[in-house]
Amino acid sequence: MAPIEEHGLSLPLATDLIEGEHWSKDVMLKLEEREGYNCFYLPSFPIAAASVSEFYGCIHFSMSTTYAVARELLDNLIHMGFMNIVIIASHADPVHQIAVEKAIRRVNKHYGIRAISPLGAFFSLEELGIKHLSPKMILEMAKKYPNDFHAGWIETSSMIAMNEKLVREGYREIPRTFISGREIISKKKQLAAMGEYGHLGNPAVADKVLGELLNQDIAEFITEAVKSFVKRENYKIYMHHFLYRIPFLHLGFIRKTKWRKTGKKVSK
Ligand SMILES: [Zn+2]
Repeated sequence: MAPIEEHGLSLPLATDLIEGEHWSKDVMLKLEEREGYNCFYLPSFPIAAASVSEFYGCIHFSMSTTYAVARELLDNLIHMGFMNIVIIASHADPVHQIAVEKAIRRVNKHYGIRAISPLGAFFSLEELGIKHLSPKMILEMAKKYPNDFHAGWIETSSMIAMNEKLVREGYREIPRTFISGREIISKKKQLAAMGEYGHLGNPAVADKVLGELLNQDIAEFITEAVKSFVKRENYKIYMHHFLYRIPFLHLGFIRKTKWRKTGKKVSK
């Protein structure tokens, strides 16, 4: 589950979906080859929540809609008899992670443990204290160009490695934009940092080798999480984004009884 969403000047609107599909298929191969699992692939659902949507190309849904879709989707799969369901929520925004995780929590409470969404944990490795050693080259880049939140070197590299043709030339000329990890929760500050570009980070330093490492790294992480989950051993650490605990981020679940125009303005 990921959105159709603007990704700066060089990446496609479907970036998050393409990434999620690529990682899912890679993880399935690894699990089938290494563990002998029998995996089934479900096409992606372009439904996701986000905190910033004031850009052309962004099609986002509320947290409550995202929650409802995830819950009903899981309900269908559980009734078919699936015991281990993995949702790849390939969109890092905490509000999306929380909406999907909340649906999983609800379903697991009702039916017994059936599902997991491990990407929230991947986006909170440090905060959750998860032991996961990323390749040195990635760690060095993350130190040099931190806070690469959206359509920066991370996503641009990842996309170049998946399919170069999907990345528009000229990404090396796009200026860096910056926002701190703390400011990212503020919609206003996010929009100010994105300016007219729509990215948060540094796409100009993207590179194919880096992208291959990034895609492998995330696939290895998901593979480990799924293995733990299937065995029901030490899997709880993979259940939630570190911000899940913050009540204020759950306000988006309150259903608005009356439909209102969002009144949102989109930037040029
Ligand atoms: Zn993205």
